[in-house]
Amino acid sequence: MRARRRGRGAVGLLGAFALSLGLVSGASVLAPAPAAADSCYTWGQTLSQGDSGSDVRELQVRVAGWAASGDPVNIDGAYGPETANAVERFQRGYGLSVDGVAGPETYGQIYDLQDADCTPAHFAFSEFTSNDGSGFSGGNTSTSNVRTNVLRNMWKLEALRHKLGDRPLYVSSGFRSVSHNDDVGGAPNSKHTYGTGVDLTGAPSLCDLAREARSSGFNGIIGPGASGHNDHTHLDTRSGRYWNAPNCF
Ligand SMILES: [Zn+2]
Repeated sequence: MRARRRGRGAVGLLGAFALSLGLVSGASVLAPAPAAADSCYTWGQTLSQGDSGSDVRELQVRVAGWAASGDPVNIDGAYGPETANAVERFQRGYGLSVDGVAGPETYGQIYDLQDADCTPAHFAFSEFTSNDGSGFSGGNTSTSNVRTNVLRNMWKLEALRHKLGDRPLYVSSGFRSVSHNDDVGGAPNSKHTYGTGVDLTGAPSLCDLAREARSSGFNGIIGPGASGHNDHTHLDTRSGRYWNAPNCF
């Protein structure tokens, strides 16, 4: 199914590019109309430094896991150096031409990684719902904000997973309702109650997860050696940096 979607996308996107350049014309080319490259989001133009807008924002969400160490990509719709750097790292990570410019090849790779509900291929919303059965409700922000926050973390985790050798990552706790967070002894106002925090367990190792997370867009890292974090590595998206995994780095 993914291959079929990508195939359609490549034709549709290249067709759209060719048309925009005025290289082709005529009914035989125009019919049938190019399908959307992806049912979630389709980019219609090449983007590079200096560009801005919602299409840049959509790109930033999907490359945020390829940030330089300690220099997260702001999801602000402005294609600055951090975004260009992340696009370069994404391109290098997937064996594409490396130029920091987002064009058909980069979009094709994103479409290939993306499921119809906009989640990356190796993660699903169901892995991040509150473990007390309350879904994404009952937190410290709206259900829709939680879904947005969870989705952004999922793209970072997709990058982390790829960098760690395409090994499955195990989410032990994603979003938590306030009551569930209280039940498990989470910090008051925990990132988990916003959907911006995620706990990982298992392979490859908690320290490998913590170390690689530094260059995967996570400003919050709490892992082995930190109080209460010897059996999981906690990652979150926050504005200021807080890295605490003394047994790892
Ligand atoms: Zn946590």
